[in-house]
Amino acid sequence: MDLSIVIPLFNEDESLPELSAWIEKVMIDNNFSYEIIFIDDGSTDDSWKVIAQLRVVNNHIKGIRFQRNYGKSAALNEGFKASQGDVVITMDADMQDSPDEIPELRKILLDGGFDIVSGWKKKRYDNTISKNIPSKLFNAAARKSSGIKLHDFNCGLKSYNSKVVKSIEIYGEMHRYIPILAKWSGFKKIGEKVVEHRARKYGVTKFGWERFINGFLDLFSIMFVGKFGKRPMHFFGLWGTMCFFAGFSIFTYLTISKFFFDQTGMTQRPIFFVAILIMIIGSQLFLGGFIGELIARNSTERNSYLIEEKIGL
Ligand code: UDP
Ligand code: MG
Repeated sequence: MDLSIVIPLFNEDESLPELSAWIEKVMIDNNFSYEIIFIDDGSTDDSWKVIAQLRVVNNHIKGIRFQRNYGKSAALNEGFKASQGDVVITMDADMQDSPDEIPELRKILLDGGFDIVSGWKKKRYDNTISKNIPSKLFNAAARKSSGIKLHDFNCGLKSYNSKVVKSIEIYGEMHRYIPILAKWSGFKKIGEKVVEHRARKYGVTKFGWERFINGFLDLFSIMFVGKFGKRPMHFFGLWGTMCFFAGFSIFTYLTISKFFFDQTGMTQRPIFFVAILIMIIGSQLFLGGFIGELIARNSTERNSYLIEEKIGL
C-alpha cells in the first residue's frame, strides 16, 4: 500500500465528510493505493457516526474510537500502530491542512530518502498572540535543544517512512516533538516542506493555555529520557558529586580558618549554610541517580535497541 493517512480528531464532525472527499479525490487523481485511518479521540459529537457512514461508501476509510479523550499523541500512536502503508501521512481533521500537499510530501520523502518530511506553516492563519508568537518560542527552544533545524516542529501535516512510525512511541503531549523522538531513535534524515495552511473552517481549537506548560515540560522529559533514559546515574551522579564536593570544599575552608587562623563564629557565616545545603542536595541527587538506575535496570525495555539491519543472522 502506498499511503496511510492518519487523522486524529476530537469533535470534528462537521469537517469529516469534506475532508475525506478531498483526500479521496487527491488519491484517485494520483492513482495511489491508500487507507485513511480516523482516530476518534473520545468525541462527544457525531464524529464517530460520520466516520461509520463514510466507511459505508468508501472502504479505504478505517476508524478507531477511544472510550474517552486521551489526547492527540495517544491518537497518533494508535493510528501509527494500525497503519499499513509504506508512507504514512499525518494531518489534522479540521481542514487547516490541505490534502493537496500529500503527493508532494510523499514524493520528497521517497526521492530524497528522508525519514520524515515535516510541513512548515510558513504563513499561518491562527491567532497571532495565542498561537503564532508562542509557537515561534517553542520552535526556537526545540531547535536549540535538539539540534534539528526545523521551523515548525508541531505541524500536524507530516510524511513518514513507515519504519519511523513503527519505531517510536508517543504519549502525553509529545506529538509536538515527534522529529526529536525520531532523531533519538536514529532517524536523522528529517526534511521540511512549506505547506499551505488554512483558517479553521468549523469548530474550535482543542488546545488551550495548558499547552504552554505541558509543551515545555514534555520538551524537558524528551531531552532527558533521550539522553539519560538508559543511564540516569550519569546525570544525577555527576551533579550530585559536584554539589557534594563544592559543599565539602567550603567545609574544609571553614575548618582550616577555624583551626589555623583562629577565626571564630564559623556557624554564623552564611557560607556555612550554603555548604550544608549543597551537600544535602548533592547526596539527594546521588540517591536519585541510584534509584533511577534501579528502575532502569528493572525495566523490560532496558535492553531493547532498534536494529537497522542484520547480516548472516
Ligand atoms: N485532537 C485530538 N485530540 C485532542 C485534541 C485535538 O485528536 O485531545 C485533534 C483535533 O481534532 C485536530 C488536531 O488534533 O484534528 C489538531 O487540533 P487543533 O486543530 O485543535 O489544534 P490547533 O490547529 O489549534 O493547534
Ligand atoms: Mg487546527
